[in-house]
Amino acid sequence: MNLPDLAELELPELESLVATLGVEPFRARQIYRWLYRRGLDGVADMTNLSVALRQRLQTEVRCSTPRVAHQERSTDGTRKFLFELRDGKTVESVFIPDTPAMTFCISTQVGCAMQCGFCLTGQMGLSRHLSAGEVAGQVRVLARELDLSERKFNIVLMGMGEPLHNYDATMKALRMLAAPEGLGLTPRRVTLSTVGLIPALKRLAAESWVPNLAVSLHATTDELRHTLIPTSRTQRLEDLLAACRQFPLKHRERITFEYVLLDGVNDLDADARRLARLLAGLPAKVNLIPLNPAPGIPFARPSDARVDRFAASLARGGIRVSVRKSRGQDIRAACGQLIVEGGPRESAGQRAAARLSEA
Ligand code: SAH
Repeated sequence: MNLPDLAELELPELESLVATLGVEPFRARQIYRWLYRRGLDGVADMTNLSVALRQRLQTEVRCSTPRVAHQERSTDGTRKFLFELRDGKTVESVFIPDTPAMTFCISTQVGCAMQCGFCLTGQMGLSRHLSAGEVAGQVRVLARELDLSERKFNIVLMGMGEPLHNYDATMKALRMLAAPEGLGLTPRRVTLSTVGLIPALKRLAAESWVPNLAVSLHATTDELRHTLIPTSRTQRLEDLLAACRQFPLKHRERITFEYVLLDGVNDLDADARRLARLLAGLPAKVNLIPLNPAPGIPFARPSDARVDRFAASLARGGIRVSVRKSRGQDIRAACGQLIVEGGPRESAGQRAAARLSEA
């Protein structure tokens, strides 16, 4: 039977549901706190509700929560969680216990449609979007499993999927987590990483709750970008950067530009100089991500000396730059390494390599 699912409701929606059951409105906030603060999903255990109400809820609502099907722990403390969803599909989330900040890296889709040639998730193709409850559910479960409900943590939407391709569910999930009765998540603790879908970026710019923005750039010419990210073919770098210039930023905030470094492909001195020119005048910081290699990914990671040289060149060009430390590589939890076993349907990486050799 299709009962209302508590996991999919924002607080005002839960309040309306509670009203239809003829229950006092404050009960909605109590239930919400149980779900988010205490990580409970069985109404039977919500002990500040009357037994009669609990019994009633048990027959009239349900609550879907992603189930931890498997966990792995890296030697560096990073933990990877495989979540099973209601229909048996799975996604991965990663916990990075960096001090002082704790970070959850969560997924927004099963697979991804963007086809980036260097990303394992991209090789899977898109299986389906996650619902808002499934996106928020990863955070509910991680906060509970790691006993962090009362602590501050950061969220990066950098797991599987393209968050702006699943816009409504992603934004709803963030509102669910932001409610003070939920986890009280503030926008500055959330970073949304996107390949840069321009119409969705404009929509995001007009929201009242705007997370930090990270844009995956990866190339300094349209030609190379279109090869590395085939689905970006319909847009030009110039227009993407124009949308970034319009993006609302608070005092001292910057947009992060992610740049995967691929040996001999986009890591030349000329690339660094072009990148500095492209970003001139933008409140930007560049996060260089030396490729995390994987079988089936037809690119190589540049040497540390090359990475340093690229970073130094950007810094000389007046660009703020950092190099992302790769975490959890031994358990395949690093950027671009999330994939659900069962294997890629086809190799986007091989297609990208073929395009590059044609070019
Ligand atoms: N769809 C979002 C989130 C992707 S994951 C986006 O495109 O931004 C976060 C970052 O990891 C992106 O910048 C992505 O391009 C990068 N990435 C993907 N595969 C990688 C790999 N094999 N090595 C290093 N970074 C990778």
